[in-house]
Amino acid sequence: MPKITENIKTIPMLDLKAQHEPLNEEIKTAVREILDSSRFILGPNVSSFEQEVAAYHNVAGAVGLGSGTDALYLALRALDIKEGDEVITTPFTFFATAEAITYVGATPVFVDIDRQTLNIDPLKIEEKITSKTKAIIVVHLFGQPAEMDEIMSIAGKHGLKVIEDSAQAFGAKYKGRPVAGIGDAGCFSFYPSKNLGAYGDGGMLITNNPEISEKVKLLRNHGTTGPYQHSFIGYNSRLDEIQAAILRIKFKHIDTYNSKRRDIAALYTSLIGNAVACPVEKQDRVHVYHQYTFRTPVRAAVEKALHDNHISAVVYYPIPLHLQVAFNYLGYKPGDLPEAEAAAGEVLSIPIYPELEPEDVKMIAGVILKALQK
Ligand SMILES: *Cc1c(COP(=O)(O)O)cnc(C)c1O
Repeated sequence: MPKITENIKTIPMLDLKAQHEPLNEEIKTAVREILDSSRFILGPNVSSFEQEVAAYHNVAGAVGLGSGTDALYLALRALDIKEGDEVITTPFTFFATAEAITYVGATPVFVDIDRQTLNIDPLKIEEKITSKTKAIIVVHLFGQPAEMDEIMSIAGKHGLKVIEDSAQAFGAKYKGRPVAGIGDAGCFSFYPSKNLGAYGDGGMLITNNPEISEKVKLLRNHGTTGPYQHSFIGYNSRLDEIQAAILRIKFKHIDTYNSKRRDIAALYTSLIGNAVACPVEKQDRVHVYHQYTFRTPVRAAVEKALHDNHISAVVYYPIPLHLQVAFNYLGYKPGDLPEAEAAAGEVLSIPIYPELEPEDVKMIAGVILKALQK
């Protein structure tokens, strides 16, 4: 008997095959050139890609790294954050944001989020600042720029460094400026599912401070200052040539990809905006919708209806970081950060990617509206 499931159309969260199809020949040619050259580490594609990304963000330096997690870790190292220090961040993000803080021996301090943007609430930061606080890691969650003016002004007043976790926000803008280039350092991930994704792991740090980019360039390569000379303990975290060559090809299309995501988001919001709490885009911000995430108190019913119709839907993120088992040692308990906990109970992310057809968006919206009528 033929399997009936084969004919059912399923809609994934992301369709990388569709994204890569038109670029296939160009990418294969670029990869073949690298295979023929045998130049795999810190070659011309990495340095060209660094220059291109620095120019796009209008910053002094960009450093290609092994992953977004490494970019966060090396940003903290370059800013001399260490054991005994506290770093303020959001509890509503991917685990790596806070994990990186522990790599340097520092303590994550979680500040609750804003209900509307799901980003760190600047009004709640100052009450968590102590004599040990050294930095704030802001996250532009789901592609939505955080409140940078308020955060930079708090940081300035208290002498804190600001790291922008921009893993989900390549190309997003805050008051006309691309995010990641506003604080002391900005971190990108090129994990395949990100808005700008490689064919494997990759990351980058950008900064306006040449001292920081020089330091990170040394850190990523064992602190090497000359042939077999090491001035300090470094690390091994290098973006490789093959990934850089692929990323350079995809980077040419990032603004188009992001604007298609924005069109899809606008269509979703026009269709379901009266029925659920849709993502907001504050004035003078360019949200790049790494995820399209809405809130509803009847999430389970909506999620089930989508899955019954072979439409992907995922909860990012079901457990806020202050309640993760790995952070038990920090001593938080349920109720400590109510907005993050409420969001974790109500958010749902639905398919969004540049190649998603408007007909599918309408069909998905129809399934959501029907589930809410029940
Ligand atoms: C993906 C992601 C990271 C980690 O990036 P990797 O390249 O997977 O190490 C960090 N922070 C956020 C917000 C992310 O989405």
